[in-house]
Amino acid sequence: MSNAAQTPMMKQYHAARAEHPDCILFFRMGDFFEMFYDDAVLVSRELGLTLTSRSKGEDAIPMAGVPVRSMEGYLRKLVARGHRVALCDQVEDPREAKDIVDRRVVRVITPGTLTEDTALEESEPNFLTAVAPGRRGVGLAWADVSTGIFELEEVPPDRLSDELTRLQPAELLVPEELERENAAIHTVVRASEARTVTPLPGWKFGRDGGFQVLADHLKVNDLAGFGCDDLGPALGAGGALLHYLKETQQADLSHINAISRFRDSDTMFLDRATRRALELTTNARDGGRDGTLLQVLDRTQTPMGARRLKAWVTAPLRRLEAIHERQEGVATLVESAGVRECVRSGLTGVHDLERLVGRLGCGRAGARDLVALASSLVPVPGLMDGLEEAAKAVPYLLNIHARLDPCPEVTDLVGRALVDSPPAILTEGGLIREGYDGDLDKLHTVGSEGKGYLHRYQAEEAERTGISNLKVGFNRVFGYYIEITHTHSDRVPDNYVRKQTLKNAERYITPELKEYEARVLNAEERIKDIEYRLFMEVRGEVERHVTRIQTCAGALADLDAAASLAEVAVIRRYVRPEVNRGLRLEVEGGRHPVLEAGMAGGEFVPNDLDLDGKGDRLAILTGPNMSGKSTYIRQAALHALMAQAGAYVSADRAVIGLVDRVFTRVGASDDLSRGLSTFMVEMTEVANILNNATDRSLLILDEVGRGTSTYDGVSIAWAVAEHLATRLRSRTLFATHYHELTALAERLEGVRNYNVSVREWGEQVVFLHRIVPGGSDRSYGLHVARLAGVPGGVIDRARVILEILQGKAERREALPGLGGGDEAAAPRQLSLFDPEGDPVIQALREADVNRMTPLEALELLARLKDQLE
Ligand code: ADP
Ligand code: MG
Repeated sequence: MSNAAQTPMMKQYHAARAEHPDCILFFRMGDFFEMFYDDAVLVSRELGLTLTSRSKGEDAIPMAGVPVRSMEGYLRKLVARGHRVALCDQVEDPREAKDIVDRRVVRVITPGTLTEDTALEESEPNFLTAVAPGRRGVGLAWADVSTGIFELEEVPPDRLSDELTRLQPAELLVPEELERENAAIHTVVRASEARTVTPLPGWKFGRDGGFQVLADHLKVNDLAGFGCDDLGPALGAGGALLHYLKETQQADLSHINAISRFRDSDTMFLDRATRRALELTTNARDGGRDGTLLQVLDRTQTPMGARRLKAWVTAPLRRLEAIHERQEGVATLVESAGVRECVRSGLTGVHDLERLVGRLGCGRAGARDLVALASSLVPVPGLMDGLEEAAKAVPYLLNIHARLDPCPEVTDLVGRALVDSPPAILTEGGLIREGYDGDLDKLHTVGSEGKGYLHRYQAEEAERTGISNLKVGFNRVFGYYIEITHTHSDRVPDNYVRKQTLKNAERYITPELKEYEARVLNAEERIKDIEYRLFMEVRGEVERHVTRIQTCAGALADLDAAASLAEVAVIRRYVRPEVNRGLRLEVEGGRHPVLEAGMAGGEFVPNDLDLDGKGDRLAILTGPNMSGKSTYIRQAALHALMAQAGAYVSADRAVIGLVDRVFTRVGASDDLSRGLSTFMVEMTEVANILNNATDRSLLILDEVGRGTSTYDGVSIAWAVAEHLATRLRSRTLFATHYHELTALAERLEGVRNYNVSVREWGEQVVFLHRIVPGGSDRSYGLHVARLAGVPGGVIDRARVILEILQGKAERREALPGLGGGDEAAAPRQLSLFDPEGDPVIQALREADVNRMTPLEALELLARLKDQLE
């Protein structure tokens, strides 16, 4: 090592560096965090910082730094790019340090352990998730350290991928040995969308150790109180997770004061394909929020409410009682405009209480956080009053009312102790309100009395010296001074010490001024110290109420989400659905909530739905492209989900027989977001439905079988429909352009045909977007081709070919006659339509009309015609 690397401070640096080899080390030096060596090179590139060096010549060490005050933004960028940052801070007051200031790594920042508002998405949770494979199932634990959520679950290995999609972890913790020991799970982890995967030593994932870590943190002997005592690998995952949090946060984590077991049976599980196809929270186009159900329903006013609503939408309820209870709460807010207004106006003053508590628990809450926290509690009594009456009759609101807690101890204390808008830095004073602490106030008077003292001193000195324009001033270099113009320099007393000469005046200091100065500066230092100490006391006191504040925050989140659903229901004229134990799905005047929201009033054509789960179980929906098939079947799924999330639905009337799961599958060629070879994916997803659906499930199948050649496709679609109708008996909406499937209705009980009506107007077609009973027998592809401007002659010829292919011609002998009466062409046509090897029929057979653009269809027709002539 070079000499420069051997200084005591750099030794300190290297020690911290060695402890955190996988991190970028931010090393505190005064008002900066500095990085050295490779870290410096890396951050200067990633953050565009200037690369400088410490020491010169051979000893030069590359160095780059960021000011402490603006560090958050830099951290955010680094972490977003997948880096881990270790903060090595000064842990003693530099004024008290004997030689060099003691420094220690106080926190490791990783994508899954962020708590800063600026680094987090407001309406999304930020989950750190641990995966521990066990013999029978996979243990999962996830936590959002920014709010204190901590949950455990065990799932069969084939469910892991779906669970990870649901959680969207920012960071995944896995055992180091995973790849070697459990290749299948390793593959799922690799394919997940987690931003970072962090391997940890396998022993950290042990069940017994995990139990101990969790029990110690929660200060219990037994996890039965949390319903988690009988878990296996999930405890291992939970232990690894908590251990990692403690290591990276170096804090008590007092806000993680409960763990809970995620009960799969309480909520509806929506797999990855379903969530995507229905565009619940992200759209298919760019993964954003536009055009999603959540965007339509989200009128929440707090970030906590937004996160709660998202959780409701992605995991609707399955228990009827729970659905009714929440729905009743929403209904009350719909029906009583007064209560709704009161709730919504009260919530406008509420900040992200959950995350404020999170920072409190991580020991990182600043004065601004405490002020925001207290001010968020201020509207609570008003909200409680507003709900009081309604809560008497409505259990859901009563439950919220009972959890709301204005925590007067907290608001009083913060109100008394802290100024209204304190600075971000805690060590520079300016935090504590006047009147809170006697000693502090006394010190402040030294400063303010000081003004009087200076005036007096100036007057006395002017009097004594007879210099009337003698002035006392202050500057940063000399401190307090007396300024006397040159005209009076002969009258300057002996005890004045000259410090500076200006153009017109001289500046002097005196022992009295120096003494005064020391007193003032000393007072300032002491003020800063006392304020910091008082702040820490206040924070400690507020922290004692963490659980209460958290409970209140949870109630506010529920209230906000429910009020949002109510507000949307009123504005968009949704209706309260009847959810019951039956199997019938009956909707009158149903609209697709997202499409409707994007259209002018009245533009969306409403449709009815009636699947009774018995004679009408499987609806086969045929109709031309662009007629509204996909819209209609998705709308049915959305209605069921909305109803079971406790929301009103976009319809005039709706009866929803409880649904245990919704499955949605989209034929490969319709699923543009996935790209190329997707038929395999399509079939895997179909297999997953056939293996998991029950007679209570709702299945939405859109052009399934489309991803392969026509004959294969029809056969698969047919067989799937048959299996659904006869074995699973799930309620199913099957949109298909294979009108061959309409024949199923005659053969199988429970299958009905529907089609989207089309009006033919001369040569034109008009899509009415109206669903009517009966199958359609044509796909109107030729009409579409005409609309696209394909020449009439080609269309006519295509119609002839189409009719032949559809077997409309009774006998093969009739074919020549269909050739347009051209006798000369007849013999040639006969041979052309010989299925054995004619190039034209071969080309036609291979052509997948549904995957063609009108232009391609035109080209094909032209080519065929050429070949014929
Ligand atoms: P398909 O699946 O039959 O090809 P889509 O369901 O994708 O058709 O609908 C095509 C377009 O038609 C939609 O993007 C929408 O603009 C419009 N549409 C569908 N259903 C309706 C409706 N009920 N009312 C008004 N417009 C509709
Ligand atoms: Mg479609």
